[in-house]
Amino acid sequence: MAVQIPSRQLLIDGEWREPLLKKRIPVINPATEQIIGDIPAATAEDVDLAVAAARRALSRNKGKDWALASGAVRAKYLRAIAAKITERKSELAKLEAIDCGKPLDEAAWDMDDVAGCFEYYADLAEGLDAKQKAPVSLPMGTFKSYVLKEPIGVVGLITPWNYPLLMAVWKVAPALAAGCAAILKPSELASLTCLELAEVCRDVGLPPGVLNILTGLGPEAGAPLASHPNVDKIAFTGSTATGSKIMAAAAQMVKPVSLELGGKSPIVVFEDVDLDKAAEWTAFGVFWTNGQICSATSRLIVHESIAKEFLDRLVKWTKNIKISDPLEEGCRLGPVVSGGQYEKVLNFISTATSEGATILCGGVRPEHLKKGFFVEPTIITDVTTSMQIWREEVFGPVLCVKTFSTEEEALDLANDTHYGLGAAVISNDLERCDRVSKALQAGIVWINCSQPCFCQAPWGGNKRSGYGRELGEWGLENYLSVKQVTQYVSDEPW
Ligand code: NAD
Repeated sequence: MAVQIPSRQLLIDGEWREPLLKKRIPVINPATEQIIGDIPAATAEDVDLAVAAARRALSRNKGKDWALASGAVRAKYLRAIAAKITERKSELAKLEAIDCGKPLDEAAWDMDDVAGCFEYYADLAEGLDAKQKAPVSLPMGTFKSYVLKEPIGVVGLITPWNYPLLMAVWKVAPALAAGCAAILKPSELASLTCLELAEVCRDVGLPPGVLNILTGLGPEAGAPLASHPNVDKIAFTGSTATGSKIMAAAAQMVKPVSLELGGKSPIVVFEDVDLDKAAEWTAFGVFWTNGQICSATSRLIVHESIAKEFLDRLVKWTKNIKISDPLEEGCRLGPVVSGGQYEKVLNFISTATSEGATILCGGVRPEHLKKGFFVEPTIITDVTTSMQIWREEVFGPVLCVKTFSTEEEALDLANDTHYGLGAAVISNDLERCDRVSKALQAGIVWINCSQPCFCQAPWGGNKRSGYGRELGEWGLENYLSVKQVTQYVSDEPW
């Protein structure tokens, strides 16, 4: 299946612009290790141009073209973008599959979610008009007060490679719905579909400068965006290490940030479960998207009384996962995103064995695939809580396992982490699920499942997994500033 890679430039002020330094970054297909194209590499000077374009977009016609336009006007653009994404779904899914190694059907479902996210925030943009001037009740009748919700301004959006277009759109759609102008900096490891979003924006006639898309390296394009004095807010998704740098850069300007960072999420399996169903959710929770999900439930905490039988079924399930080129029919697990990530995942596995852990299955490159950054789905037991594999995010298809005997012990194990993104509990006792979900220290808890995600519900983590929430109404609030307007309404002198 040959896939055409369009040659694109940066999107600045509604136009394609060559990066000022004319640099490009090669695109490598992780399934073949071949260079299949290249993307432009922006630097600080391009960031300056994009920020200036975004500022102009907010002030053009005294703001009436975008920031002060009604939500209904902005919603029309969001719906037009959603329709174009749907029209181009299969082409975009193929681009994403060869760019980041995601199985083709998963990439196609992501495109549905991308279009759905634009539609959802179009609805919220329309609803925003009716929420303006919400009255505030005051203790004195001599004053009246109401609240305006206004776009924060120019926002910088920096995103990762695991859901290249979807993670970008979780930010772009609410930012535009709110009336902000944005500069998107996708990951250098997977930018192809974000560059196509640029083409879609041109096709639907999005006003120039409202969305600027700058591909490029983190330190060269992301860092100048994060520290730019004319950017009013940064929304970031990526690793905890980079998130901390972004927060520090933003702090220099007292600039608000929202951060969606890494995780090491637990899945607790109690003794009363249907073993096959629980094994399927456990495998799905850690091997979906090749294990490269921030919320992957990568620490299995299973009741000791069922551990042996449960692991037998889980291993059987795992060995049936079809590993292949993501474009091949029925592929369930593709390569990890890059050579660097491949080395990192294998290093995690070898450190675990050198620390005394046991590999129950996987741990190596699949024999039938000689090229590509493929790692077999891996399950690791005999793990202690001080081991690196238990404590650090692998971001690959690796599950580590511990057993427990009491609910209290399960919760201690689950919460013994610096992260706090996702957590899952599997049990037929719904009262217990309710109790456990309250005690789990995470921003997202799944009961009797793992990973389903809906754009209506809040998404985000606690502890070192981040700050703030995306999606739902919370996602829109990220890009709105609240203004109090208070009027003296009495005829009496103050
Ligand atoms: P990363 O931190 O390496 O890169 C993320 C983005 O930051 C990229 O666009 C990169 O170019 C940019 N960047 C790198 N250095 C920068 C700097 N100094 N200043 C500004 N920008 C910089 O992360 P990644 O490897 O692309 O993504 C994987 C990580 O993302 C994992 O830790 C994963 O858990 C996390 N993630 C979190 C969520 C969530 O919702 N919480 C979702 C997806 C991924």
